[in-house]
Amino acid sequence: MSDLFLGLDEEQLQIRKWVHDFADRVVRPVAAEWDEREETPWPVIEEAARIGLYSLDFVTSCSADPTGLLMPAVMEEMCWGDAGITLAIFGTTLGVSGIVANGTPEQVGEWLPQCFGTPERPALAAFAVSEPDAGSDVSSMRTRAVYDEAADEWVLNGTKTWITNGGIADIHVVVAAVDPALGSRGQASFVVPKGTAGLSQGQKFKKMGIRASHTAEVVLDDVRVPGANLLGGKDRLDERLARAREGRRGQRSQAAMATFEASRPLVGAQAVGIARAAYEYALDYAEARKQFGRAIIENQAVAFKLADMKVAVDAARLLVWRAAWMARNSKPFEAAEGSQSKLFAGETAVRVTEEAIQILGGAGYVKDHPVERWHRDSKIYTIFEGTSEIQRLVIARAISGMHIQ
Ligand SMILES: Cc1cc2nc3c(=O)[nH]c(=O)nc-3n(C[C@H](O)[C@H](O)[C@H](O)COP(=O)(O)OP(=O)(O)OC[C@H]3O[C@@H](n4cnc5c(N)ncnc54)[C@H](O)[C@@H]3O)c2cc1C
Repeated sequence: MSDLFLGLDEEQLQIRKWVHDFADRVVRPVAAEWDEREETPWPVIEEAARIGLYSLDFVTSCSADPTGLLMPAVMEEMCWGDAGITLAIFGTTLGVSGIVANGTPEQVGEWLPQCFGTPERPALAAFAVSEPDAGSDVSSMRTRAVYDEAADEWVLNGTKTWITNGGIADIHVVVAAVDPALGSRGQASFVVPKGTAGLSQGQKFKKMGIRASHTAEVVLDDVRVPGANLLGGKDRLDERLARAREGRRGQRSQAAMATFEASRPLVGAQAVGIARAAYEYALDYAEARKQFGRAIIENQAVAFKLADMKVAVDAARLLVWRAAWMARNSKPFEAAEGSQSKLFAGETAVRVTEEAIQILGGAGYVKDHPVERWHRDSKIYTIFEGTSEIQRLVIARAISGMHIQ
């Protein structure tokens, strides 16, 4: 990997600074309020859309960055501001990834602009995979998609759960089983636009953290979408199902796995942002707070915690940047480097935010300071987009070549 260069160039640094300023000026000051209200922060989303930060153009140009480092840098800065608000703004990219990974170029061209809307009226997208009985085990999904040939329509029935932007999104990308006997190889993705009859929001969840991000059930009750809303098209699906029925392994499931692995560094980058915020806050506090006639940082017990926090944050970022660079430069993940980055960054965020609370003492435990919120926010990073246990499973299988259970 001699061609990996871990610096950002002048243009990337400028973009990072622009995002940091937004996180500092617009996001941080209102983070506690939206956490308390537990509602989608529309004014912040609208402001992000107005300045072009929340736009198809911005996301496309960051993703096209040849180093692969720009998008993780953007995510880190945003989550340094607030993770809940970041997910309210950029949760859309989950649905976008689903469309890009599975759609034809025409479908990508049609649906992506609708995921973002316009600067005057921003839209949101959702990616609905998880179900009450299908979390880590996606192959046991029950939501069914049945083709009505006479009408050239797909009929979707089922209940999705824990869906970011579920029910409030303008575009839902729904994964459903076409042939349940084939497990995850019998599934396909469908675009369900807002207002489609039979699509509704179930319960909205009250959460421990990232409370500015909307999480809800999505109910699909005889939802009918045109044949054209099947991502990838019917011919490709039929070929894939035929291959799966004959027991042949196609490129497809591996490609889906690779896409998933490639998106994990971005989730890791969000966790790095929370961890860095907590580390910086605790460092400032430890320098200012005096006990026994000296700053508490003058005690090794406190200073060493901060040293460990700094090392962990930087190590997490290095794993994230390595994986993001590899994904962008088509370097094969041989040891599940995407999972490594998400696992380490997620667990680092939990540990570092907890240590930050410890360094603030009683002040860390109350809402006058943000560290208790950051700790609550951090926990989701060991759960969604594949739990820590599932990441370890993926890594263990990659390094051993064995089907570890
Ligand atoms: C706030 C939030 C937002 C979310 N957003 C979305 C979204 O937008 N779209 C979406 O589709 N989903 C979303 N999810 C769902 C999320 O991806 C799942 O919660 C996650 O995949 C875990 O599934 P589960 O909750 O059913 O846990 P389970 O799969 O039931 O796991 C429970 C425990 O068992 C462990 N476990 C399970 N299987 C194994 C195994 N084989 N080996 C070892 N340990 C195992 C897990 O690691 C975990 O500790 C979201 C969840 C939350 C909380």
